Amino acid sequence: EKTLEKGTPEEKKGFIEKLLQVEIKEKDVEEALDELEIELLEADVALETVEALREKINENLVGKKVRIGTNKGKLIEDGLREAILEILTPEKKIDLIELIKSKEEKPFVIAFVGFNGSGKTTTIAKLAHWLRKNGLGVVIAASDTFRAGAIEQVEEHARRVGVKVIKHSYGADPAAVAYDAIQHAKARGLDVVLIDTAGRNELNRNLMDEMKKIARVTKPDLVIFVGDSLAGNSVVEQAKQFNEAVKIDGVILTKLDADARGGAALSISHAIGAPILFVGVGQGYDDLRPFDEKWFVERIFG
Ligand code: GDP
Repeated sequence: EKTLEKGTPEEKKGFIEKLLQVEIKEKDVEEALDELEIELLEADVALETVEALREKINENLVGKKVRIGTNKGKLIEDGLREAILEILTPEKKIDLIELIKSKEEKPFVIAFVGFNGSGKTTTIAKLAHWLRKNGLGVVIAASDTFRAGAIEQVEEHARRVGVKVIKHSYGADPAAVAYDAIQHAKARGLDVVLIDTAGRNELNRNLMDEMKKIARVTKPDLVIFVGDSLAGNSVVEQAKQFNEAVKIDGVILTKLDADARGGAALSISHAIGAPILFVGVGQGYDDLRPFDEKWFVERIFG
């Protein structure tokens, strides 16, 4: 048995350190998390994500020894921030421009999926604008041949950002429109094809099959889900459903300039494992921002 009197100076120091330590108990974590949990739910983070975070914090912190006087509440909040960052930070960060330029055979094909009203068409125009500013040639495929007015709407946006749209008539095969857009890009040496797909208000069998066919025909390099941050938990369900039909590689969350604190970003990343690439922060074509995990965590905690 070592005591304070015997032992080397190193051992003495270790002994005193031990005396000064307390263990973090499950109760400490539970209490601190109860409060933080309310903040997360108020920020629209889905319950299943909140529960996963709670488990993670318990795992990381319960039983850990800290120095007497350590602010446990602060420690737990820091642990929570870290766990949130972990969910949001993709294993491999996607640098879109880099990715597009590194593709050997042009064009790079991006298919956009999402429900009506989520901001899909506006987002495509914003992204087209951003890509052009980065020196890339872009064409848009008007593959929503279902919803009345969809083709004119995408044409109007495209006109304003100076990008050509490839279209057929309403009722035409969306995959055929996308295919033509790719041929157009190949012939003109354009870098990127953005495919606007149909939204509907529910993901039924038809829409699933349509998405699958577009994916089969165009072999997109990237499938981006566009979700409305104001849609709360239902946007997480949408992301899951689309992800079952076609694998989603990235997410753009719109309307973050509005009230929502954007917890959906966290829930979606957690639910489908895809990174948030950009967020929409307004109705203008410049209102698209690369997603920054740290900025987001600050926003969640208000
Ligand atoms: P779509 O049906 O998914 O193609 O949706 P739209 O692109 O037509 O967008 C629906 C509405 O949301 C339009 O009034 C857009 O201006 C608006 N919108 C899209 N993105 C944003 C955003 O980031 N912020 C705000 N405030 N409005 C947006």
